[in-house]
Amino acid sequence: MTGLTNADTSQGDNRDGCPLCKIAQREVLEEYPRWRLARTKTMKGHRERLMLFHREHLKTLDEQSIGEAYLLLMGIGSRFFSYVTEWAIFEPVYATVPNHWHRVASDLDTKADDYKQILKTPRTIIDSERGSIHRADPIEQITDESKPKES
Ligand SMILES: [Zn+2]
Repeated sequence: MTGLTNADTSQGDNRDGCPLCKIAQREVLEEYPRWRLARTKTMKGHRERLMLFHREHLKTLDEQSIGEAYLLLMGIGSRFFSYVTEWAIFEPVYATVPNHWHRVASDLDTKADDYKQILKTPRTIIDSERGSIHRADPIEQITDESKPKES
């Protein structure tokens, strides 16, 4: 989705050391014909934090597959994130596993450990109350969310 051409699509290169390929079956929450759903290893202070990844070790996917993944994740999120009205799917700019296609989704808890990183990550925000979906791009200045505390 970035439009970058990956001359080095090292697909399959690090399959053996790939944590998503090696994931234990007990860590898989749900399975689909082309995808697996798991909880992320680090929750970063969120009540729920999920990861949907392709069953195969592929670095890049075609647009149609990405669309399928997002649709699937939106359905999954409506169940797993039912405790909040807003949650988001993040683009993998800070991904620790860049060679295996996946998307992380979490609530938008402002007290979470990675909230500042969330603001710097292009994300798709799902608002279940309004039934709306919108994209949010990184903002440079954090103003509204972190008002200086008066003491
Ligand atoms: Zn892999």
